[in-house]
Amino acid sequence: MKFSNLKLTTPYLELEAPFYTKVEPTPLDKPFIISTSQDAAKLLGVDEDLNLDDKLLCIINGSEKLEGSETFAMCYSGHQFGHFAGRLGDGRAINLGKVNGWNLQVKGAGLTEYSRQGDGRAVLRSSIREYLVSEAMHGLGISTTRALALIGSDTDVARARWEKGALVLRLSPTWVRFGTFEYFNSTGEHSKLQTLADYVIAESFPHLKGEENAYLKMYAEIVKNTALTIAKWQSVGFNHGVMNTDNMSIDGRTIDYGPFAFLDDYKKEYICNHTDVDGQYRFSNQPATAQWNLERLAVALSPIINYDEMDEILDDLFRPLLEREYSEIMQKKLGLQMQDAEDENLIYQLFRSLEMASVDYTLFFRILSRYKGNKFPLLDICINTEHLEKWLNMYESRLEKEDVSTEKRHENMLAINPKYILKNHILQEAIEKAQADDFSMVNDLLKVAYKPFDEHEGLEYLCKAVPLSSKNIKLSCSS
Ligand code: AMP
Ligand code: MG
Repeated sequence: MKFSNLKLTTPYLELEAPFYTKVEPTPLDKPFIISTSQDAAKLLGVDEDLNLDDKLLCIINGSEKLEGSETFAMCYSGHQFGHFAGRLGDGRAINLGKVNGWNLQVKGAGLTEYSRQGDGRAVLRSSIREYLVSEAMHGLGISTTRALALIGSDTDVARARWEKGALVLRLSPTWVRFGTFEYFNSTGEHSKLQTLADYVIAESFPHLKGEENAYLKMYAEIVKNTALTIAKWQSVGFNHGVMNTDNMSIDGRTIDYGPFAFLDDYKKEYICNHTDVDGQYRFSNQPATAQWNLERLAVALSPIINYDEMDEILDDLFRPLLEREYSEIMQKKLGLQMQDAEDENLIYQLFRSLEMASVDYTLFFRILSRYKGNKFPLLDICINTEHLEKWLNMYESRLEKEDVSTEKRHENMLAINPKYILKNHILQEAIEKAQADDFSMVNDLLKVAYKPFDEHEGLEYLCKAVPLSSKNIKLSCSS
């Protein structure tokens, strides 16, 4: 099947008008393909080479349409940095329709009803980041929206300086956000909350259809999925940066990649977003923020679901599930198969030691994945080695309790501790090359994004040490 032969449906348009507005995309000038993800295309049932599809570019750029496609922008609101922001909506993303369970959306496609002061555009820099990290999160086994293609153009877009406009064709099983429910609660259109809940059940939780207390169960599913995703973020050192409720997917998927960062040196209180002056969305606060966001969702759903019951579910499920998932992942990252009463302390002491050592989070676990008793390769990457050296003694005694062979432990650890992580300095290098019309590094990064646990001969330059000047920097929200 060719991409351009796909036939789309538009189930969201079966809802009433306030859920969306129809809008035509505004094509960019002189568009060109920078990169495509054949892996993402498979989700749609496309098995023919995207780069040989001569209509791909026109379809993404909006000058041609797939069969059955009707373009629209979705309406939502949300809490941004703790405050309700009123009506937001897709201000620069235009939806094309759905196929094979995946909704297609082009980000940067032009003005919509919801653009407010914005220009409806996305610049090359932020589009490269979103495109690559969507595929990288998938490679890491973290629930995420996907990206099928990255398109560049000659259209000038005004930011702090003039930049070029770009497009990302994003895919998601749902584009409904916590903020979509919040919109219909804020306008008092409570029957629409029910309509939306029915839509969400049909789209994301079909096993709940017709069940007793289906809405409450839907809320429980959202709580569970969110907890699992956040546990995974914490385990890989991912800082989202803009955890507003309009950026929280209803199925717990990671969406809307802006000033995100993967930790360089381990820093619990790291804040990747330059505008987050109070550190609300700092790395260590992501579990609490997600819980707060789930409370906002419960408030929005309270006209149709008993609030106290949702509150009880949130209290009973969220933290325990997140903590259990996180501990299980950490056990695996350390190559520990059996449970031991001391493990909680071992993990706690590890993070204290990492913080004090100023050590690269990803590299530490990757080197640890080959640990055989020689501490030097680990201590060599630390600034302050004292605590970590003590911790390694603890770890060694703990390993003695395991009955798995060293080889098997190494194999297991190498399959969960990634070698390739899209840290900001490497993304920045790829962006600078792309801005000078060299897209080779974007495509190299895509290759490692799918298989971050593998060795990639010839691509080791993508995991080189982070220069001191770029460690754990903050990024602007401008995109
Ligand atoms: P974000 O912080 O990227 O999740 O965006 C928050 C809101 O601002 C959403 O409603 C976006 O659609 C909208 N928005 C962001 N950038 C633009 C832009 N350049 N043009 C129009 N709307 C935008
Ligand atoms: Mg957003």
